[in-house]
Amino acid sequence: MAFATARSLALKGPDGHVIDVQVDVSPGVVGTTLVGRVDKSLSEARDRVRMAINNDCGRFPATKRVTILLSPADLPKGGTHYDLAIAVAVMAADKSHKELTPELLDGWAFVGELSVSGGLRPVPGVLPMVIAAASHGITRVFVPEPQAAEAGLVPGMTVFGVRSLAQVSAVLRGVEVPQAPPVVGPSGSPLATWRGEDRLDDLDLRDLDGLEDVRYAVEVAAAGGHPLMLVGPRGTGKTSIAERIPTILPDLTTEQSLEVSALHSVAGILPQGAGLLRRPPWFAPHHGASAASVLGGGSGRVHPGQVSLAHHGVLFLDEFPHFRTDVIEAMRQPLESGEVTIARGDESATYPARSLVVLAANPCPCGNFHAQAPQACDCTEVQRSHYQRKLSGPILDRVDIWMEVRPQLGPRGQGFGPAPESSADVRARVEDARLRQARRFRDCSWLVNASVPGPVLAERWPLEPDAQRLVDDQLSAGTLTRRGLTRVQRLAWTVADCAGVPRPGVAEATLALALRSSSAACALPARVVTAAAS
Ligand SMILES: [Zn+2]
Repeated sequence: MAFATARSLALKGPDGHVIDVQVDVSPGVVGTTLVGRVDKSLSEARDRVRMAINNDCGRFPATKRVTILLSPADLPKGGTHYDLAIAVAVMAADKSHKELTPELLDGWAFVGELSVSGGLRPVPGVLPMVIAAASHGITRVFVPEPQAAEAGLVPGMTVFGVRSLAQVSAVLRGVEVPQAPPVVGPSGSPLATWRGEDRLDDLDLRDLDGLEDVRYAVEVAAAGGHPLMLVGPRGTGKTSIAERIPTILPDLTTEQSLEVSALHSVAGILPQGAGLLRRPPWFAPHHGASAASVLGGGSGRVHPGQVSLAHHGVLFLDEFPHFRTDVIEAMRQPLESGEVTIARGDESATYPARSLVVLAANPCPCGNFHAQAPQACDCTEVQRSHYQRKLSGPILDRVDIWMEVRPQLGPRGQGFGPAPESSADVRARVEDARLRQARRFRDCSWLVNASVPGPVLAERWPLEPDAQRLVDDQLSAGTLTRRGLTRVQRLAWTVADCAGVPRPGVAEATLALALRSSSAACALPARVVTAAAS
């Protein structure tokens, strides 16, 4: 028999799919053919595999016709990680390789890029690939040695981290058994957060004086998953408060942790040997960033963007009006549906993107305008009104909470005013509010108030009648759009969940309306007002 099959995996968006790499080696017109909807990066596998076999494992069957078929044929395939599966299938199908037989490949999956010398190189996406292999009943997988720990995060999988094609062949023949992968613990301390690829340690809400209304808005946003807009002059602490939001979010659940870690693996930024990401991620793309970087895309396979890498964490878009128009417009989809679809040529990928979206903007182009000190602003009236128009529009109607961040005029530093609350204290309340939501939504597909569809909210979880009247009046008066009305109802529920109130009444609806219109300072709950005044 001159035929062998090895299994590898394809990625479509964040999901892995099992691929059969079938190789036929027979006499005929000499040449190597690779078929099965493969892209350029994969078609170059022919050369890498030929050189790796020649240099590490005897001879490539160069005097025969070699046909390599990747199936299912309808799934687009790209990337360099199929090299290992192609190489072992060629060796098993070639009768001149007496030791490696087709049966020895059964039950294994193969992932890794080959170098000219036959060495194995790491590839992105190992974690979601191995998750897919496990779900298809495959229990043994070869991966490049540095990625054994990552693959070992998948329960029930026996992982062999290997250095070369010759070593894989030796293991398959039972000649050599590599060491078990290292044991991997959870990533980071309970408070460690990732900013992109860097860890953010030691950030705490305790570091920030004042800003009581903003702190409350941030707490509500975190508790109910509500998109938040912070508007204020330069230097008022918008970024400082935004980058502390991950510190008040609960730990990721096991399911969320696998999902987020798999996305980071696809992007090739899962820290080697760090284990699963347990804390909510934080991403803050620069306003000049490309659509591919923010939303996803790139060359070769469609890569997840920062909206997806921030899944279950925080996406912070500072100076939002300065982002490219196509990026601003494209943010509608993640804000509405919690996912993002990137179409390119005949390939499209959908990645999850359900993060807490935090936008920030200066009040004017120069960033210094403030009603109490208008002389600080260099902008003309025309510039200011043009900028204000950019700050409105349909995308921003999808933001639940609008919060003005004012300059702090009182004395700063320790010893003045009340000691600010720590992130741990706030996080405990956020966790309680999340628990109340989890109980209410136990038979639903969503976890937080911000994700409840409007009609379902109105039917199953109405506000108290007088609270609903109060909100309806705003709609009649034209100060609230219909979309805004749903957002206020969701917010009222989160305000109630934060306060332990069973159903939102007039007090919660009033506060929700205030959070929506950036006048929360006048309607803050008693707890926050007391803290600010004492
Ligand atoms: Zn200005």
